[in-house]
Amino acid sequence: MSYDKNNVSEACVLAAHFFSSYKGVTVFRIGGKRSGAFGAIFLTRKNSDADTVRHEYGHILQLRRLGVLKYAICIFLPSWRRWGSDKYYEKPWEITADILGGARAGKHAADKIAAGQAYLEKRGNMRLIACIRANSDLKGKK
Ligand SMILES: [Zn+2]
Repeated sequence: MSYDKNNVSEACVLAAHFFSSYKGVTVFRIGGKRSGAFGAIFLTRKNSDADTVRHEYGHILQLRRLGVLKYAICIFLPSWRRWGSDKYYEKPWEITADILGGARAGKHAADKIAAGQAYLEKRGNMRLIACIRANSDLKGKK
């Protein structure tokens, strides 16, 4: 399969063994159990499907919206540490990755989507120091 930076096919991404590209973002295939996104997409070879690709791309769009530092503090950290009381993919920072990336269409409740969008909007408008302070509340709800 030839390398296409602007590839939009999730199937092509899943067929690649080492790296590929999805909508202009570099995708690395990794070992381990958890995929992630931080400027590039790190996609596990096992347990990844088309919705995983879309979800991780949604995290890229969150990063573009929040900037690197706020993304690290408001999305990457709580996701990695599994903060919050909702089920993993219903956590506010995970819901908007699905919605923005087009994953799990129709599988989220409207109130959870609204909570996710409010979280992204609110963090987007907060100063960085306030985001750091707000994280201590999230940690408490683990
Ligand atoms: Zn995620």
